Amino acid sequence: MTTIGSTAMAAAEEDLTERAKRHLIQPWPVAETMGDEARPLIGEGDGIYITDAAGKRLIDGPAGMWCTNIGHRRRELADVMHEQAMALSYSSPWYTTSSPSVALAERIAAHAPGDLNHVFFTTGGSSAVETALRFMQFYNNVRGRPDKKLILSRGSAYHGSTYLSASLNARPRDNDWMDSAGDLVVKLSSPNPFRRPGGKTVVEFADVLVDEFRDTVARVGAERIGAFVAEPIQASGGVIVPPEGYLPRIREICRANDILYICDEVVTAFGRLGHVFASGEIFGLDPDMITFAKGVTSGYFPLGGVVISDRLLEDLRRSNHPEAMFAHGLTNTSHPIGCAVALKNLDILEDGVLDHVREVTPYFQARLRDLADLPLVGEVRGLGMMAGIECVAGPAGEEGGALDETIGKRIDGHCQELGLLVRPIVNMCVMSPPLTITRAQIDDMAAILREGISRTMDDLE
Ligand code: PLP
Repeated sequence: MTTIGSTAMAAAEEDLTERAKRHLIQPWPVAETMGDEARPLIGEGDGIYITDAAGKRLIDGPAGMWCTNIGHRRRELADVMHEQAMALSYSSPWYTTSSPSVALAERIAAHAPGDLNHVFFTTGGSSAVETALRFMQFYNNVRGRPDKKLILSRGSAYHGSTYLSASLNARPRDNDWMDSAGDLVVKLSSPNPFRRPGGKTVVEFADVLVDEFRDTVARVGAERIGAFVAEPIQASGGVIVPPEGYLPRIREICRANDILYICDEVVTAFGRLGHVFASGEIFGLDPDMITFAKGVTSGYFPLGGVVISDRLLEDLRRSNHPEAMFAHGLTNTSHPIGCAVALKNLDILEDGVLDHVREVTPYFQARLRDLADLPLVGEVRGLGMMAGIECVAGPAGEEGGALDETIGKRIDGHCQELGLLVRPIVNMCVMSPPLTITRAQIDDMAAILREGISRTMDDLE
């Protein structure tokens, strides 16, 4: 392995910065700097660490974007990618089948809850959500219910960056400057207990959310609503863990009204909560569809997919339109390299990583919750290997305290100096490190966060 020295890396960064500004458009840019922006150069990754251009090693606090689940530089994944590329680098999903895709679909079906036994592979999370939604439209068209197409989504949701998936998004700034298929979507309240209405307990807040859902179905009409889409824990909305019992209650209302329940497990699947899928194991849910991506390959290859239930496919077979075509597919659907990488990743998860997550989770959550004694911290919350630190600029009032949008970025800046990459979201920081993190590394992470938050408090004084 060649390790680039820090001087060479610094020079490389300078050069790359200029070249990036000339030709590379970064995702989520602002108009002022779009096409004229370079972000810090990361040269290497190893385990839970990444190394920047100056040779500084940082803990990969967000695991890339919730995806490097088994950590960086795993030889097994590099090898399987190479072997599969040499055996069969590509095969058309339009008229052929590759063996890794069959084997992976089988393994995924074995882990998915209920009768979710059929997998449609995509290239990532947005295309997975898009596929699930287009399938819902197709399903209702074939079943002679062309008006049953509206989609229920919730405040603080993030479901992707394609047109339909992005139309469900509801975090601050998601919709300020972007068009969306708004007439297809009905937005419900965020299930964030920290910002629940004043005077309500968390249990009462669950009732409020369920009542809102039931009232919306009654007002809009079940005959017009095709699907409800929900992350079991809203990830980039700020690691929002919903009130206990609320999701299963919504699931029942969906079932009673023939509304498809689509569980977006793009973040929560493949080990983040200690299981391959969290919906059944953690939340007691049996959705009609589950979307997944990210951790399925630990970020080594772009892959995602939708798991669809037996029941939905049987309904299609029994419909009056056996000739109807689901005219939807991607060149890279069922990509053999992606599927081979995912199979090996699943082997590694099952061979100790899932057990490790279940064992280390209470420690991870406890160490981060210790930070709640800092005056800037309004709440530390989370489940499994996901945690959100929500900061408040002033004293936490009934509504959870005032928002200061610079806090997350300030904490990230300080933490990077101290050796930890943080994912800042407005006034929050989310932590979702590679799942292989040890107790000692969790201690390091918590100590840096404490110092980073303290320095941010000093800045604000
Ligand atoms: N769904 C959820 C819950 C996500 O967090 C994301 C991405 O962060 C997506 C969907 C979109 O996935 P991708 O970025 O792979 O398209």
